[in-house]
Amino acid sequence: MKKISTISLLCFVLYSITLSQIYDIKEFLDQCPTNDPVIDTILKDFEIRLNNEIVTEFPCTEPVASIPVSSYSNPLIYLQTLRVIYYMDKHMANHLPWTDTTLYVWMKERVDGINIKDGVAGGYCCEEIDGKIFFVTGNADDFNRGFDKKWMGIAGNIDFFAHEVRHTEGNGYYHSSCCGIASGCDEKYDEADLGAYGIQHWLNKSWLDGFINVGARTSHNTSEINEIINWHLGSANAMRNRFCQNIPELINLEDIELPLGAVPTSNRDMDWETITLFPNPIIAGQEITIISYSTQIDKIEVFNTGGVLVKIIDDPGINEVIFNTRNLSPDIYILKILDSSENMTFRKLIVH
Ligand SMILES: [Zn+2]
Repeated sequence: MKKISTISLLCFVLYSITLSQIYDIKEFLDQCPTNDPVIDTILKDFEIRLNNEIVTEFPCTEPVASIPVSSYSNPLIYLQTLRVIYYMDKHMANHLPWTDTTLYVWMKERVDGINIKDGVAGGYCCEEIDGKIFFVTGNADDFNRGFDKKWMGIAGNIDFFAHEVRHTEGNGYYHSSCCGIASGCDEKYDEADLGAYGIQHWLNKSWLDGFINVGARTSHNTSEINEIINWHLGSANAMRNRFCQNIPELINLEDIELPLGAVPTSNRDMDWETITLFPNPIIAGQEITIISYSTQIDKIEVFNTGGVLVKIIDDPGINEVIFNTRNLSPDIYILKILDSSENMTFRKLIVH
């Protein structure tokens, strides 16, 4: 048995998480955030609480689209939202008008987590627990949680999170009532100094015109694409009612070259975001299916938590690999997946 050290395994995992932005948001959202190696980082950066209690378990099965809404919990949804934020504009710089870093870094430097609370409508910023700063959001109902399986729901969470985090800065970017909505307006829209609603408008505009491209065109069908376009268009334009001065111009679709942007080109030979494992978690003895949408899989090495190589599937040279897990005892495994050029990616597999 070949043994790789925990340190080198960790390096591999770190290597895999330096891969860049989102290639296909539909595919991405069907993956459990808990199967992404980056999740340990996210949970270190953001504490997720439910009614003040720290959440440590986020039960999830793939594809996420098939999870019954009753089991698709708000903590899981917000973890997924943070995962999208983590990747969304990774490696971009000076792209957000209100900060010179990425959305994720900007957020983590200002809040310590999210507190999901029963009985809260919408949300607010912020409250302190154990010396940490949390923004607060309501515990959404079944309808809204179902919507959060799709990009539109997650996008709505992201712009709302960004709104709340903006309140931690400067003078608090407090709202005015000048637009006729009680404490629901920003005095002005100013891209040099966006308020909380200004950030929401800007994000929807940027998703719509593809400036921030999450791969909404990659595998959504035409009607889904149109639905997403109209969602961002409607969100950005409706937000115009929230400003009293310097109201942003009405956005017309005809002025946008390619709404949502093109299908991202990936210069990554091995893109872990396009690899799906299911079922995961799996019961020992069941067959697992691994599908790669971009590259042909050449070899899969399975390591246990001790870093011991316990299984090799060699030379499949195909896009779909199926193997039986009967020889794997219940544990967490790391799958090292390689293509013929030895590009590699890692996925976590849980065997019960
Ligand atoms: Zn606000």
